[in-house]
Amino acid sequence: MGNLRHFSIIFLAVSFLVFSVGLDSSCKAKEEKEEAMAQLEKAPDIKERLAKLAPTDITYDESLLNEQQKEVLEKLVAAAGYMDKIFWKQASQAGLEIRRQLEQSTDPADKDYLRYLTINFGPFDRLEENKPFIGTQAKLPGVGFYPPDLTKEELENYIAEHPEKKEQLLSHYTVVKRTDGELIAVSYNEAYREELEAAAKYLREAAEITSNPSLKEYLEQRAEDLLRNDYYQSDCDWIDLKDNLVEIVIGPFEVYEDGLMGLKASCEAFVYINDLEEMKKVEGYLNYLEAMQKNLPVEQKYKDQEVGGLESPLNVVIEVFTAGDTKAGVQTSAFVLPNDERVREEKGTKKVFLKNMMEAKFRKSLVPISERVLAAEDAELVSFYGYFTEVMLHEIAHALGVNYVTLPDGTKITVNQALKEYYSAIEEAKATIAGMCNVPLLVEKGLVPAEREKEIYTSYLAGMFRSIRFGVHSAHGLATMMEFNFLREKGAFLYDEETERFKVDFGRVKDAVNELARALLTLQGDGDYEKAGAFIARYGHMDELTKAVLSKLEDIPVDIEPLFSFR
Ligand code: ZN
Repeated sequence: MGNLRHFSIIFLAVSFLVFSVGLDSSCKAKEEKEEAMAQLEKAPDIKERLAKLAPTDITYDESLLNEQQKEVLEKLVAAAGYMDKIFWKQASQAGLEIRRQLEQSTDPADKDYLRYLTINFGPFDRLEENKPFIGTQAKLPGVGFYPPDLTKEELENYIAEHPEKKEQLLSHYTVVKRTDGELIAVSYNEAYREELEAAAKYLREAAEITSNPSLKEYLEQRAEDLLRNDYYQSDCDWIDLKDNLVEIVIGPFEVYEDGLMGLKASCEAFVYINDLEEMKKVEGYLNYLEAMQKNLPVEQKYKDQEVGGLESPLNVVIEVFTAGDTKAGVQTSAFVLPNDERVREEKGTKKVFLKNMMEAKFRKSLVPISERVLAAEDAELVSFYGYFTEVMLHEIAHALGVNYVTLPDGTKITVNQALKEYYSAIEEAKATIAGMCNVPLLVEKGLVPAEREKEIYTSYLAGMFRSIRFGVHSAHGLATMMEFNFLREKGAFLYDEETERFKVDFGRVKDAVNELARALLTLQGDGDYEKAGAFIARYGHMDELTKAVLSKLEDIPVDIEPLFSFR
């Protein structure tokens, strides 16, 4: 699809310029504006770009909630909506202007551009490394957080000369402006006052309605924190939420959008319902954490450590609505918050899985993949249950094995320190495999129904193609590649040249998984840097056959475009 990335001239009235329009010159200004916009170009392959994201209804079961909870939910969605408005300002001021023009356009073709602009919160394609699809101007690294022409050097030099302004200028929660050559920090509660006040008002109204004391306290505190630009207390309160169904995460969190300094937090919101039934299942698995550790197919010294539990408790929720940063481009399926180190130390974090979002991605991308690369009888066994169970076990199994290595001289270091740059990929592979090798134990204990066991293996195999589809650059992609090659070598997965399909050999897969678990857990337990490198070199490459199989998947959506019941 790379060859489609040519641009054609458009005749749409759009401009990045700010016009100072005199009373009697508005007509002339309009003409100038149209002239300026005629030069703006639009990517001709907008349909292909849209096709990468399958529009999908994100729904929830309304019968889960009583009347009061429904009212709370509506208020929370209303509050969340303001994060869209703020994130537009943060991500792309220019995009806002283009949006206004597209909304007014009478050209039916512009509907597609407007839709893609809305998905991306601006004219930069988040699925194509932020290259512009409207106009040719590159995305500013500092987006809306800094003056457009500010460089990192200038900011650092300015701070060196004005140390008293350092804290404010580098705060996660300020935007930087330049006035008369001076840099000033404007706090979010001032820069986005209107939106934050409106959001706070809805949070307070929701707090009035709810009868859950922890939710009431959190919402009131969050409203206050949005207005005082200090999120510490309500971040703590979010961790302490209990016995409630409806929840919201709202405010500035992730700093990825700030390409200049990686400091400024983008606004976003998640509104969701706790999935109590699913959480009970996860708790069930966690009750067997010790047993899973004991069950690892390695010598005692590689599983000698007491399993202390998970870094973050696992929450499974049903997403109702999202806004801002998290909704831009590829959708979030899980998040860990808060980011504030002080809260992390005192209270810890929560890991939240958005189950219906995961299911939407599963249906729109993993199922079609499985239908093309798996033998028919295996594709039939691919299920969301199988996929979700594998993902949960991966999360849990990060806690298994050992975290420390004792060096010959007696000093103790972490496995991470020992394996250095190889650690992440080895750890991700370990988590998957230490989870998978415990599936038979969970069947034996009755936590996984025996008749559903095969679904986990076939869904695991299908999911592999989804994660290596975009290369092996990420730790997850590389880990999956290694698992796939190793298990194939051991005969767990078979390829039929005639049908060009893969299938699971159910007679071999368990032994092969155990063998891989032994290899990875031993690498970690020995902290053997050289061996880890050799393992990755041997199993981390993508062979021609795999490339050929992947090339058949190009037209399958890479993600979804969420269509919420609340708009
Ligand atoms: Zn992981």
